[in-house]
Amino acid sequence: MRNRRYIRITIFILYFCGTIFLSAGPFALNKCTKKFKNQRLRMVSQQIRKRGVDDPEVLEAMKKVERHRFVPQRYRAFAYHDRPLPIGYKQTISQPYIVALMTDLLELDKNDKVLEIGTGSGYQAAVLSEICDSVYTIEIIKELGLQAKKRLHRLGYNNINVKIGDGYQGWQEHSPYDGIIVTCAPPTIPEALKQQLAENGKMVIPVGDRSQELEVVRKKNGKIRERSVIPVRFVPMVKPEKQ
Ligand code: SAH
Repeated sequence: MRNRRYIRITIFILYFCGTIFLSAGPFALNKCTKKFKNQRLRMVSQQIRKRGVDDPEVLEAMKKVERHRFVPQRYRAFAYHDRPLPIGYKQTISQPYIVALMTDLLELDKNDKVLEIGTGSGYQAAVLSEICDSVYTIEIIKELGLQAKKRLHRLGYNNINVKIGDGYQGWQEHSPYDGIIVTCAPPTIPEALKQQLAENGKMVIPVGDRSQELEVVRKKNGKIRERSVIPVRFVPMVKPEKQ
């Protein structure tokens, strides 16, 4: 008789604790998501709009894409700070302002097809995919490329195609591209990328070794024209190791 009472009391306590645990979990998660959202909105108004990027679609995409999901767990608290962050393998996710500026300079249309060189975390690709029709992105470090592919799939980005390979070759199969964005710095603009740019297409690319310039390249009547925008600092665009 006594035993039964104990069992009933134990079941009641377990039920009670379980209910509290299950309802507190989503509550805490919700609070966290809200905190990040507020930080993201502040990032857009303080770091991006204030510096002159004002295209509504770019701002909307920067507000929407959850940058904290693209950085390693230990850097999440800094996800919306005004700085690049390490993503492993000696690589970095670019500063939010630079992501927004490069996206803005591409002047994308919703039907555009874009090629990105340097997938990294997949963040820049996610921002682009909110604005254009499809994104093709190439990463030379296999582990980073595979991680980004998995992450983008998990987050529901289904108009982004990730390939492990050498960005110097571009991605001929799907060319020409209305926009090309390079997020690592080659010493000069790779020939294949110029060729794979569509007529009237735009390429945004950091060029140089120690001192780099962000350049906007335009193709008109088959001719390439370049203009420098600002000095920048990107990781180098590496050549694949010879087998
Ligand atoms: N766009 C990324 C940041 C990329 S950092 C993001 O949003 O997170 C630059 C990336 O370019 C690195 O991941 C680096 O491995 C890659 N990279 C360097 N040289 C490359 C090459 N030749 N081809 C393709 N990717 C390259």
